[in-house]
Amino acid sequence: MAEDFINQVKQAISQGVSTLSQGVSELNSTVAGRLEMTKLQIQADALNRQMLEQMEKLGRTVYEGWQDNALDGPAVRAQCETLRGLESQKTALEEQIARLRAGRKDKNPDQPVCAACGEPLQPGARFCHACGKEVERT
Ligand SMILES: [Zn+2]
Repeated sequence: MAEDFINQVKQAISQGVSTLSQGVSELNSTVAGRLEMTKLQIQADALNRQMLEQMEKLGRTVYEGWQDNALDGPAVRAQCETLRGLESQKTALEEQIARLRAGRKDKNPDQPVCAACGEPLQPGARFCHACGKEVERT
């Protein structure tokens, strides 16, 4: 009798532990996904800044060349190519971000997601819990 009871308790505990660890691993994958997204967005922001700096450099080269009436064709071309390299990196990053967002939507097609960051929204939420953007009501 007592042994039965102990076995039942043991079973209940091990079920509880496995439910808990399942919950933790789901939480971990959500957190990992969110971290991945944040990392990609930081990289995209950095690339954006690099592109702006590069455009400024290019503009200066063109403008100074124009002023001296001696436009430096090879320098302008080299800077344009650098810019194009940055742009294609940015495009690749944006595609990666879009895929991540799409993957989340696939998991739960009925759940609305934030228009700004793609995070699934809590039912009835007025603001996105991830980025704070106000939820647009449709
Ligand atoms: Zn958001």
